[in-house]
Amino acid sequence: MYCKNCGKEIDDRAEVCIYCGCGTRQAQTTKDETNTLAIIGFIFSFLFAVVGLICSILGYRKAAELNGNGKGLAMAGIIISAVWLGIVIIALIAQL
Ligand SMILES: [Zn+2]
Repeated sequence: MYCKNCGKEIDDRAEVCIYCGCGTRQAQTTKDETNTLAIIGFIFSFLFAVVGLICSILGYRKAAELNGNGKGLAMAGIIISAVWLGIVIIALIAQL
């Protein structure tokens, strides 16, 4: 197999890369996994604020499991959704 950190060929059973010292098992489990929830939440925050807010909050929680992956995007989704909800609520109140 090849080291995920430096890309050099290492023994398949090696736990640590002999070239850079990077743990091979850790490198495999901490691979860049896309935070789909954060992306969905961000997109929906523009279309359906409620759905966007829920997905963004879930995405924000998920980010903790993914080494902070998508945390910024989830945060942006929460803020945008909250702003949209605020605008909708103000618009509804203004119509009364
Ligand atoms: Zn390496």
